[in-house]
Amino acid sequence: MKLYSDPRLLSLGVVHGTTDRALGNMRLSESTRALFERLDICEENILRFKQIHSDVLISVSSKEEMEQIQSSPLAEADGWVLKGSGFGAAILTADCVPLILWDEKAEVLGLSHCGWRGVAAGLPSKTVQKMKEMGAKGKISAWAGPHIQSCCFEVQEDVANQFPESVIHKEGKLFVDLSKAITRQLLAVGLNPKDIQLPHLCTCGDKLKFFSYRRDHTKDALLTFVYRP
Ligand SMILES: [Zn+2]
Repeated sequence: MKLYSDPRLLSLGVVHGTTDRALGNMRLSESTRALFERLDICEENILRFKQIHSDVLISVSSKEEMEQIQSSPLAEADGWVLKGSGFGAAILTADCVPLILWDEKAEVLGLSHCGWRGVAAGLPSKTVQKMKEMGAKGKISAWAGPHIQSCCFEVQEDVANQFPESVIHKEGKLFVDLSKAITRQLLAVGLNPKDIQLPHLCTCGDKLKFFSYRRDHTKDALLTFVYRP
């Protein structure tokens, strides 16, 4: 089974990754059920929310709190900050940036769904700030799953104006580099450049491997999850 993941975070014992097209449309419960069965993770221990392209974060600091959230109706949010073991969280994307953050020993984890609206609202830096409030220790590192790259993310002026430092002008068109916009935010809240690794994999540009809303106007989605055993 192919999952996109980060060896730095795997070495800290955090099971995580982004799925690809071969694992199916993760909006379907049969796809997520099959995935977590293969990973030997109980899906009841994976938190979900309703994504709304916001900067709203939900923090969870114990398994008890996790169970409380699981027994409530789905909340609306776009980022998780988790502390504790025996549970995790997941988000869906199809071009947006699935961003994972962790502190020195991966005791505090962040997982956020960063579309351009979330990035413009400061979701990446707010996730780091919330992690620090939750007791994140030492350096914080970042990784992102496959997402739309500047090659394919053509925008109109209204969106480009939100990211003056991350706009690329090409043949009279405007493109936004979301990875760059996110990196700028993470540097501003104290991350080191070498600890930010956002692989250059384009969901829109690789039809064989990824779903892309921009390319196919599909609701089919990839799943990115984190789970601390
Ligand atoms: Zn592309």
